[in-house]
Amino acid sequence: MMQDNLFLKIIERKIPARIIHEDEKCLAFHDVNPQAPVHVLIIPRKVIATHADIGAEDAELLGHLHIVAARLAKQLGLDQGYRLVLNCREQAGQTVPQLHLHLLGGRPMHWPPG
Ligand code: 5GP
Repeated sequence: MMQDNLFLKIIERKIPARIIHEDEKCLAFHDVNPQAPVHVLIIPRKVIATHADIGAEDAELLGHLHIVAARLAKQLGLDQGYRLVLNCREQAGQTVPQLHLHLLGGRPMHWPPG
């Protein structure tokens, strides 16, 4: 079961987070339970529950999230590479019902993922 939209509470500053980027379209902050030396979450301000809920009207927003991810990867020194993960719905491990990109880096990554 997916929990409450905790990330909306972060956007609204109702719960604290280590925010490292903010603009009119999105927010990025460090994951509270990092799975790599760098683990940042990039979320849209617009409420979109899952990847399956995106529409054509979100094309620019989704592009923006990727541009922010690439910029943050550079700022955070992930010159040797990084992984972007987007879990969609329960079977993929999504626990927060707000679209988010995981930016992971700072260690070798394995494939296939678990
Ligand atoms: P998902 O499993 O939905 O793809 O990813 C949710 C992520 O949000 C997890 O990596 C989890 O550690 C992180 N997370 C859950 N609650 C909080 C919170 O309150 N603050 C922050 N910064 N990260 C959270």
